[in-house]
Amino acid sequence: MGSSNVKLKILMCTSEAVPYAKTGGLADAVSALALALAGRGHQVRIAMPRYYGINRENLTKLEGAMGVPMGGGEQWSAVYTTALGETPGGPAKRTKNPVQVYFIDHEGFFGREGIYGNSFEPDFLDNPRRFAFFCRACFQLCRKIDWYPDVVHAHDWPAALVPVFLKYGERRGISSETGSFANTVSILTIHNLGYQGIYGKDNFSFTSLGWDVFYQAGFDDWNMMNLLKGGINCADKINTVSPNYARETLTPTHGFRLDGTLRYRGNDYSGILNGIDTATWNPRSDRCLPAPYSADDMTGKAKAKEALQRIFGLPEDPAVPVIGMICRLTEQKGIGELFGPAYGSAWSICRDMNLQFVFLGSGEAWAEQEIRSLSSRLPNFKAHIGYSEEISHLIEGGADFFLMPSRYEPCGLNQMYSLVYGTLPIVRNTGGLADTVQNYNQHTGEGTGFMFDHLSPSSIYDTVGWAVWAWYNRKSDIETMRIRGMKKNFSWNKSALEYQNLYKSALKQQPPGCFAVL
Ligand code: ADP
Repeated sequence: MGSSNVKLKILMCTSEAVPYAKTGGLADAVSALALALAGRGHQVRIAMPRYYGINRENLTKLEGAMGVPMGGGEQWSAVYTTALGETPGGPAKRTKNPVQVYFIDHEGFFGREGIYGNSFEPDFLDNPRRFAFFCRACFQLCRKIDWYPDVVHAHDWPAALVPVFLKYGERRGISSETGSFANTVSILTIHNLGYQGIYGKDNFSFTSLGWDVFYQAGFDDWNMMNLLKGGINCADKINTVSPNYARETLTPTHGFRLDGTLRYRGNDYSGILNGIDTATWNPRSDRCLPAPYSADDMTGKAKAKEALQRIFGLPEDPAVPVIGMICRLTEQKGIGELFGPAYGSAWSICRDMNLQFVFLGSGEAWAEQEIRSLSSRLPNFKAHIGYSEEISHLIEGGADFFLMPSRYEPCGLNQMYSLVYGTLPIVRNTGGLADTVQNYNQHTGEGTGFMFDHLSPSSIYDTVGWAVWAWYNRKSDIETMRIRGMKKNFSWNKSALEYQNLYKSALKQQPPGCFAVL
């Protein structure tokens, strides 16, 4: 497996993938990585649940039902399939070496609205069972299609049982007649350590694994069951989505109580920066913009700014800097420090500075309410509460600055989109933001954005103030920084090569959990 031109069989096990199901960056990352790996010649397949919202009419049903042994019995499901890119709105299909997606269909577990929950039940009570079933079904799927991967690549806590099932069962050949997973290795990618899948340990019996495994694999978390923790302990290699976040998560501040578990894995844990989908996020070809533009001709960016100001009902003034922001309204994104009623800095930023502020996003109810209130009180603050791909492209293209005051950020996509759209990021020096943005040096003119270390309303205020000062007083630095950002290469190709190396190093190393086939 050591040679660089060995083509691997890779199964991505995921709860989200664009264009089928998305709540955040995970969905973008999985599909883009799968396509980039296929572009390198690997055989890549994706397994994911067939949620109620995924229309079966666009998919092909595999013949026969699929039984999945769970909780001492068997759960029956169906499998649907399509090639990634065949559904409208998704990434372009690869005609050569396409990525095949398999949807596990189970009425009881996935025949309802919502991925992890809905407005009535934010976290479905049966999530541990739903995703335990899905993880087990990934192996049954391989048997059904008679295709045994070299690598099972699990993403986040919903797929974290995949490495566990591999180590304590599938690889040992005790649960099946074949033992064909004997040489398969597992990779677990953590897209956000803040979500671990912690549930009552009574759910563990549903996995059909013994209580010895519960303790050996380290699921125990203060008498609860922590799915991600079990996955971290069992996967052959673990990674997260930026090198800096990998380092940060080894500390108690960012480790979400799993820093010790991660430290224990030593060199098996690393960081690989996510790429961006350069076909979708490219100012030269973006159909959501009024005109294309590039580093050589920025007139299209001025048109995008004009359109953005018009759509948000702001004066169409090229001289005033526009600050854009797109995010899920959760504590992770620094929304308390920015929008907290009576203490958040957004109010004073818009009151004191000659700028315009546009916001797109949704999430916590208090924040949505505060943002609506700010829009009604401030003439230069406008918001769209909701989700819109089109508006998000227009903000990236039309804004002059992009604000991301994140408490923590495993990788972050918007700062990379901003850089390639010539929109200067204003970011906290954390996680993937620190790996992708270089702070402005007003003496040398170097840098690609504006950064601050400590998250507080005053540091956000000061750093936005610094960016606005540069806008009015260091125009040529702003222009050179823009061009510098636009020339950055954040393509998935680069990241896919690193994942390929990670797979190969896992395959080369005798996996710690590789028991002899019984
Ligand atoms: P996270 O995964 O933590 O939400 P990322 O920056 O990694 O943050 O990825 C978020 C993705 O979702 C980006 O592509 C971002 O543009 C998109 N996004 C978030 N909220 C919205 C929204 N309201 N409308 C359109 N796109 C959004």
